[in-house]
Amino acid sequence: MQEWLAGQARVRARRGIVRHTTPRTGWGAAPLDLASNDYLGLAADPRLQAAGIAAVGSYGTGARSSRVVTGTHPVHAELESELCALTGQPAALAFSSGYTANLGILTALGGPGTLILRDEHAHASLIDGARLARSPLAAFGHQDLDSLRRLLAQRTQPRAVVVVESIYSVLGDAADLPATARLCAEHDALLVVDEAHGIGVAGNGRGAVHAAGLAGAEHVVLTATLSKALGAQGGAVLGPPALREHLVNTARSFIFDTGLAPAAAAAAAEACRVIAAEPDRVAAVGRNAALIAAGLGIEQAAGAVQSVPAGTPDRAAGLAIRLEDSGVLVGCFRPPSVPDGVSRLRLTARADLAPEQLRTATGLINSLLAATEVPA
Ligand code: PMP
Repeated sequence: MQEWLAGQARVRARRGIVRHTTPRTGWGAAPLDLASNDYLGLAADPRLQAAGIAAVGSYGTGARSSRVVTGTHPVHAELESELCALTGQPAALAFSSGYTANLGILTALGGPGTLILRDEHAHASLIDGARLARSPLAAFGHQDLDSLRRLLAQRTQPRAVVVVESIYSVLGDAADLPATARLCAEHDALLVVDEAHGIGVAGNGRGAVHAAGLAGAEHVVLTATLSKALGAQGGAVLGPPALREHLVNTARSFIFDTGLAPAAAAAAAEACRVIAAEPDRVAAVGRNAALIAAGLGIEQAAGAVQSVPAGTPDRAAGLAIRLEDSGVLVGCFRPPSVPDGVSRLRLTARADLAPEQLRTATGLINSLLAATEVPA
């Protein structure tokens, strides 16, 4: 075993893959958490906690079986209806995670006759879903719609699915959804938009698809995670009712997976109501993102995630460790988790952070960046 693992580590090192740090907790450990995905500060909100506790009381701690056996509870229907109300989509199907939602939609849509075209920065779960679908697969340049157009025009398969993220997870940039959807319509392709970083943040919290006027469009499908802005856990696919029906019958990561835990479903449903009722919470993410970007002299990214290039993987890791020692948790992204190979610190502009906290954090980051500057 030891030898086998050492061999695997040597292969990773040859491919430039940097070892991950020990898993960390953001819970109570550091005074200032700029690393987690709790964009709206809802994970510890008393209303979500109460909804989760009530669901445990009503349905128990687990769903008990797959949704297609006995694992569908009223709380799943409540969540799906709240997700539709928030995003303006006609139908929703909840999965146990955003990861399994992405596996589910791409395996259910894909197959040998379906070309899957993905942005080269697409999340690992979208890549894995496309591979599992046994579809012909190609990546187009990040946000490069000319390259997408060429690939669509050359296709030989009867069907095509285009996969993008509304707001990209590492760089934080936003896709041009109206133009991408138009291109897909022209080429009779379906567009799958992963809104993991868009829901709760873009378009007054209703997501970037809604903001682009594409909610309910026949050829647009949306996937979501409940574990970021919604402060819970789980995932969902949203789109036409016929698609929901198709997923229930064909998505293996739905059929062969235990249903979403009732507490998570109830907390996420409550989060949808809070987001719709409290637009200022969503606006605070934008204000805090602007403060972080101005404090660090970087261009403000579209969503909650602000990305600071940090040079080498070692420099990025060193900066993250020194910040943690000073009580500030930041994300540290290095190969292979960075699509462009550039190691970076990732800062989350959470709604519940005060301007003073952000000034302290950006001041500290600036002084550490200057102290570890690599001579040109
Ligand atoms: N898609 C994107 C773009 C993500 O960033 C993530 C979470 N890292 C996921 C999907 C997976 O979501 P979950 O954590 O709910 O499995």
